[in-house]
Amino acid sequence: MIPGYFYQPGSSRVQECAARHSGDRIAIYADDECVCESLVETLKVSAHLPGQASELTFTDGARFVPLDVAHRWSFQSGKSSLLASLESNLALIVCALVATPVLLYALLFKLVPGIAVTAVQTMPDAVVEQMGQQSMALIERTVLSPSELSDAQQQAVRDLWQDTLAQLDLSVDKYRIDVYRSDHFGANAFALPHGQVVVTDELALLLAEQPDALRAIILHEIGHVERMHSVRLASQAAVASIAIAILLGDMDIVAEVVLGSGSALMDLQFSQNMEWEADNYALAQLARLGYSGEDFAQALESLVSLDDEQEQSWLKYLSTHPSLQERIEHARTYTPSP
Ligand SMILES: [Zn+2]
Repeated sequence: MIPGYFYQPGSSRVQECAARHSGDRIAIYADDECVCESLVETLKVSAHLPGQASELTFTDGARFVPLDVAHRWSFQSGKSSLLASLESNLALIVCALVATPVLLYALLFKLVPGIAVTAVQTMPDAVVEQMGQQSMALIERTVLSPSELSDAQQQAVRDLWQDTLAQLDLSVDKYRIDVYRSDHFGANAFALPHGQVVVTDELALLLAEQPDALRAIILHEIGHVERMHSVRLASQAAVASIAIAILLGDMDIVAEVVLGSGSALMDLQFSQNMEWEADNYALAQLARLGYSGEDFAQALESLVSLDDEQEQSWLKYLSTHPSLQERIEHARTYTPSP
């Protein structure tokens, strides 16, 4: 007799009992009375796992759990023995524990950015265009409203833009600027991957008397577009979630990412490296056009000087890092490479 517990089907009642195995039959006895009997071949036997009792499940859902966790049924098939030996092999467990994070790291930080960069290089302009337009449509609908600046104020921004663009031989067809009011963004400028740059009323007002500083900010934004930063981030996010979806076997995640990429772009945060790249682009262009890095340094200082209640979203990321001062210093001491 094998002592154990008997669980009635569909109830939480537990009985102390004993199982008797004879030939092709199993019978469960509680208080010398047979409470359940079954053919061995109709039973389900749980996998052999170290430290876990090998329980029997009857066709009606009743279960018998042996008291002795090491008890193994003679009729149990060997199909779970591989699992059992894996589970009891400490070296393999340790390997798996070490390998999983290493694999995840390699996948997410090495393979994914690698694939993403390749994807960006081969990304057709039409895809970038659509990505930018869809994001802009979403942003415009949700967090932008028509500019409340006077026509003259808006025109001043556009003139500055035209002037800069003409001097840089950037495509007039690709790049455009728009001025919007936005409570969400505060004093801010951002660029969408297809070349649309947005300047908020608050930023235009803040730098109304410092057009060269505003030009520096605009050049920084153009830098993000020229270096394809948002396309890079979006494709990294997409590749990463596809990798995770494959790992988890849940393809719904992919649909969410593809459908949600517009909203993801809205509050996109560039990496610190990308900000440095955009800064350097702006500084190099300023130098080329005969302006100085001081214009960019002043723009950063004006944004820092905003009251706390006012949004400083353009600096949101970097203001939390000590590197803001570094950025200002870098702009002041920048010398273009020959
Ligand atoms: Zn930036």
